[in-house]
Amino acid sequence: MPVGTLASVKGVSQDVLEDLGVQILLANTYHLYLRPGVETVRQMGGLHRFMSWDRAILTDSGGFQVFSLTELRKVSEEGVAFRSHLDGSSQFLSPEKAMEIQIALGADIIMAFDECTEYPADASRARASMELTLRWGARCKDYFEEHKGEVPWSSSHLSSLSSQEKQVLRFAQGDNRGNDNRGKGHFQTQSLFGIVQGGMDPALRRESAERTIDIGFPGYAIGGLSVGEPRELTRDIVLSTLEHLPSDQPRYLMGVGTPEEIAEYAQAGVDMMDCVLPTRAARHGLLFTSEGRVSIKQARYTQDESALDPACDCRVCKRYSRAYLRHLYASNELLAQVLNTIHNLHYYLATMRTVRAWIRAGSRL
Ligand SMILES: [Zn+2]
Repeated sequence: MPVGTLASVKGVSQDVLEDLGVQILLANTYHLYLRPGVETVRQMGGLHRFMSWDRAILTDSGGFQVFSLTELRKVSEEGVAFRSHLDGSSQFLSPEKAMEIQIALGADIIMAFDECTEYPADASRARASMELTLRWGARCKDYFEEHKGEVPWSSSHLSSLSSQEKQVLRFAQGDNRGNDNRGKGHFQTQSLFGIVQGGMDPALRRESAERTIDIGFPGYAIGGLSVGEPRELTRDIVLSTLEHLPSDQPRYLMGVGTPEEIAEYAQAGVDMMDCVLPTRAARHGLLFTSEGRVSIKQARYTQDESALDPACDCRVCKRYSRAYLRHLYASNELLAQVLNTIHNLHYYLATMRTVRAWIRAGSRL
């Protein structure tokens, strides 16, 4: 999932994302809550209509962003008080509030509000944090079950239908559960995913997974990783946690990783990942290619006529030279960020297409 923090993948328009084959985007609850604000998005019919994106959207709960505001937050049983990074105003997020916001934003998949355990954390701290996430997960589910009918696209959709159409729709909703209704409009409700925490302790991760499954969600995320721990430890925790999550439901690894890592994790059974790396690195001139990383700012590319990645069939590599991309970057041209981002997204998406093909063929990379 490419990351579109503020309902925009920086530098790339929605039609290009469609051409690239993006199936689902991640948007950020915390950022959208502060700007443009939930009410604006709700009034516009939800994120899909607001950003003109018919394909799937996932919103995170805001827990991770609030977690990263170490100096500005205070965690209690009720929720998290924090100060806006924009204007310093006092804000409060709780499980219920995070659900209310995400229902109003109207993404297809929404995430439980969790506490991202810091690294390093001692055993008692990791347990206390995991227990808090479990209690918050149950509160999220309770609130969601009670309010899931308030998603903006269900009401905006329904109000334009005749009573006969509504009847047909209700029948279809009750009767077609489990069928793939994508492409027939957003008739079904959102899916709320639970999040597994437990720090870097495999036993605690297992307990968190089992008790999150007991609460019951249509999909499960592995959170609390990529928080400063060594890469090898990330890998160990992911692999040991995956074993305890149902393989017939989506398993989502949050905030990971390099092209090599996403291929490895997908092979291991992870179904969904999001990462700012392809887009953020692109804006800093770091490009992923079949020949390894290319730092396009380097002087060695000044007169390099070759394509960025000769093996890549993206619109950037088919058209422009390394010399031109280097020039754009060195000149601080906006187009540099646009083209670099398009290539990196293509590279990541192509990696995942390859992984899918290998999985279908029953092979390993
Ligand atoms: Zn390319």
